[in-house]
Order: sequence, then structure tokens, then C-alpha cells
Amino acid sequence: MLEGERGRRSRAVRREPEMARRSPRPEATHHVVLRPTLEKCEGCGEALWVAHHKRRTVTTLQGIYDLRLVVRQCPNSQCQEYHHRYRPEEEGSWALPHGEFGLDVIALVGALRFREHRSVPEIHQELLRRGVQIAERSVAHLIARYEELVTVHVTDRDRIHEKLKKQGRVILAIDGLQPDAAHEVLWVIRDCLSQEILLARPLLSSAQGDIATLLREVKELLPPVPVKGIISDGEKAIRTAVAGIFPKIPHQLCQIHYLRDAAKPIVQADRHAATQLKAHVRGIRPIERALEARTDESAQDARDYCLAVRSAITDDGHPPLKLGGIKLHTRLSQIRDSLDLVAQKRGSGLACKSCGPSLHVD
Ligand SMILES: [Zn+2]
Repeated sequence: MLEGERGRRSRAVRREPEMARRSPRPEATHHVVLRPTLEKCEGCGEALWVAHHKRRTVTTLQGIYDLRLVVRQCPNSQCQEYHHRYRPEEEGSWALPHGEFGLDVIALVGALRFREHRSVPEIHQELLRRGVQIAERSVAHLIARYEELVTVHVTDRDRIHEKLKKQGRVILAIDGLQPDAAHEVLWVIRDCLSQEILLARPLLSSAQGDIATLLREVKELLPPVPVKGIISDGEKAIRTAVAGIFPKIPHQLCQIHYLRDAAKPIVQADRHAATQLKAHVRGIRPIERALEARTDESAQDARDYCLAVRSAITDDGHPPLKLGGIKLHTRLSQIRDSLDLVAQKRGSGLACKSCGPSLHVD
């Protein structure tokens, strides 16, 4: 970032200094890794290297996310993009740069304030009701962010224009944020390379015509630099609108959105299977209690098996790529096979003949 730019930023939407915190922030409830979809340098075509990882914590309507960001860079010192940092394109759909609250929270705050005309204390109560840990003064702050966001292309046009011209190309991302079905959709169109938000507008519908209007506005706003690509979640209305306004420009589906949507039925079925599996291995605690006083070898073995089962049932996996239910099935099957083997060798199970707590995994 250029020195001069840093100063100008203070007026722009980029800034989101959260106010000093009086109580510690609650722990993250979800962990997500974001990677840039770009794997090769735009300048020289060499494979990008991982420059470093960054961490961000973002509070959304779905919980508190610990984001681990993989930042890549070009390793070729002869390349004009040498050491240019590529952050994950998806990052900007989570939150504003430096923001602690998700764009979905800002979209909800904006809708409650400007469409439903609710007061700051009322919005604060609504957010708490939805499980968002937030201070009342931060609500006022988010209202200001929302206002900046929806006026950005009017107030900040020249600065963005200059920046994109210098950059020489843009990759657009389109996100529709809808806090719930009853609310309007906050459409955000941004450039993934500069992380600049180009246009944000609340609309009551996700109709193709409305999205096309937004895209046309963005197209007019852009300096004469090529649009290298467009990223979205691939909803049909967006696809058609993009094809109309930016024909022939590669349109990539945001991989994680796409994957998440495609995997939804599988993840649900997997969760259901995991619940059923867990029902089969209840009652570890009584076994452990019965073994407490014993120090003999089989008691120790049985304790180890209990621990293995415990650890298997508390591992929820990382859907959509690592499914918890399948993992649980694999681990329980291994435990069962191992128990069978022991039973074969000893001629009986692990159960002690005198006091009898048997460890059975079905
Ligand atoms: Zn390069």
C-alpha cells in the first residue's frame, strides 16, 4: 500500500476501527480456512507461493468465525507482480477490511435501521436476541459503516477509479447478503484484487433485471481496464445477468459457496448418520466408573478403548470436505475390529470375569 493511500483511506469504507473493548471477545465457534483461487501469477504464470497466513475473527449471524487466510505471492523477482500479495477472494464477502462484524450483520443493522426505522437500543436488543454479542455503541458504529457502504460509489469514485487504473485489471465478486428471508438483499460488488467495494445496494428482490442494473452501473464506474473474471455463488439470476452485461468474461463460481450448497444434502445425511452411530456407543461413563479402582492390565486396556471411543464421538469433522459421520464410522469400525481381535486372542472379550463391565462397540 502506498503511503498516500493510507491517509486517504481514513475517509473510505475501508476503515472499520471497532471501539475499545471492555470485556473479552467470546471464543470463536467455527474455524474456516480461506485460500486464493488464483494459483498462478497473473504477470508471469509461475506458481504462486504461500507468503504467510493471516488470522481474523469475524462475528456473523451464524456465530463467531476464526478465519485463517492463506496469502500467496509471486516468487519470480523478474516479474512485475513480484511480491504482490494475493489474499483469498472470498475474504471480502465475510467482512469489511479490518471489520470485526460480518457483512451479514451490517446488512441486518442497515435493514432494521433504514427500512424498519428501529432505534439503536432496539437494534441492539434484536442482535442480542439472535445471539450476536455486541455492545450498544458498536451498533451505532455499524449503522455508520452501512451508510458508508451504500454511498461508496458516489463519494469515493475518483479514488477507486485511480486505484483500479494503476492496477490494470479487476476481478469482480458479486455477493447477495440476506439476513433472513423477510429482509431485503444487500448486494455487494467488489474487486478481489484491490479488496475495494465498488457498489453496495439493498434491493427487495434478487431478480435478474435488478442485478443486471447493478452490474451495468459497476461497468460504467470502472476505468477502461479489463475485467479478468467474475466470481459469484452461481445463482441462476446472477449467471444470466453476468452473461448479459459482461459477455465472454470467465465467470467462476465461488468454490466454497458452490461446494457448500452442493454438499448440503450430504452433510445433512451425514449428521443424521452420526447421531445414530453415537446412540450405539452411549454408556462409556459407567464403564469408566466401574474400572476406576482397578490397576490390572485389562482394565488399563479397557480404559484406553473408552478413551478412543470418547475421542471418536467428539470429533465433528470439517464439512463439507471431511464429514464427521463417515469419520466416526471409520474410527468406530477400527475400534470394533481391534476389540474383535483381542477377543479372539483371549478367547473372550475385554470383560473382567469377576466384575464384568464389558466394552462393546456395535
Ligand atoms: Zn509473477
